[in-house]
Amino acid sequence: MTRLSAITPSGHVQLGNYLGAIRRWAAEGTDDDVYFISDLHAMTSSHNPARLRALTREQLAVLIAAGVPPRSVGVQSDLVRELGALTWVLECTCTYGEAARMIQFREKSVGRSSVRLSLLTYPVLMAADILLQGAHEVPVGDDQAQHVELARALARRFNGTYGEVFAVPRAVVPPTAARVRDLADPTRKMAKSAQDAAGTVFVLDPPDLVRRKIKRAVTDDLGVVRYAPDEQPGVANLLEILAACAGKEPAELAPAFDSYAELKEATAEAVVQELAGVRERTTALLDDPAELDRVRAHGAERARERSRHRLDAALRLSGL
Ligand code: ADP
Repeated sequence: MTRLSAITPSGHVQLGNYLGAIRRWAAEGTDDDVYFISDLHAMTSSHNPARLRALTREQLAVLIAAGVPPRSVGVQSDLVRELGALTWVLECTCTYGEAARMIQFREKSVGRSSVRLSLLTYPVLMAADILLQGAHEVPVGDDQAQHVELARALARRFNGTYGEVFAVPRAVVPPTAARVRDLADPTRKMAKSAQDAAGTVFVLDPPDLVRRKIKRAVTDDLGVVRYAPDEQPGVANLLEILAACAGKEPAELAPAFDSYAELKEATAEAVVQELAGVRERTTALLDDPAELDRVRAHGAERARERSRHRLDAALRLSGL
């Protein structure tokens, strides 16, 4: 059984990525899985080449530092030739209507005067990633489930039209997916590309900055610590973050606090502690480029090896 998940280097790794995804990949991941940095996806909107390269390295270091099995880790563009080839074949099995129906495309393109064509087609690239690696399960947030549905449809269509090559993947939305919200605006999810970094805790933020951001988190004027996500989203977010760090349920933690200040203090300390080891190991890895390059090259070689027969078969069966 192979699982495949990715993180896009469109900004620094934030606490939501860590608690909602990376920590799980480290705990549950095996050498058969694939966890990669989707740098090609980061090019679907305006990007800076040097920053993209630096963020890709940083994210690779964070994944390894967090304990994701090094043999399962890689960088998407290390297979750009293979992916380019399969993406073309899959684009030739996908209709314009299917791509244009993707909710993410519609949301991200509405009202923009200029949209990169790749924003429309990248779900096909994502399908190529999944199908090339033979992934059976794709753990995703519910915002990406539609893209995995497209990958399923394209796998079935290819197999039915040209011959059995691809495993048909399925999306799995993790059952207790921690959905960390923005500290400054708890109605939105925390995201690495947030406009206002005050609401986003980055994994590599120094401890004092983490404490400052959490102490300034927006709450409400009700003054009671209860777990009520609809009425008190800010307080609920802090409880959820604390619970994720402590391995407890948010509702069971609430009665322990008499004030928002106490809750913030406890949450800040839990987050600082949770991130301390990852931050330290990431910094050490970034200072040791040779080791990072070695892991990256190894991941690329392995991903290429495991995908070669599928790519060859797909090209041959489709008439190339
Ligand atoms: P971002 O939204 O920060 O750009 P990505 O799209 O790169 O994140 O997603 C990487 C992983 O992190 C995905 O599995 C996604 O579900 C998870 N993730 C992103 N933001 C959050 C969040 N605020 N809470 C929980 N999980 C998150």
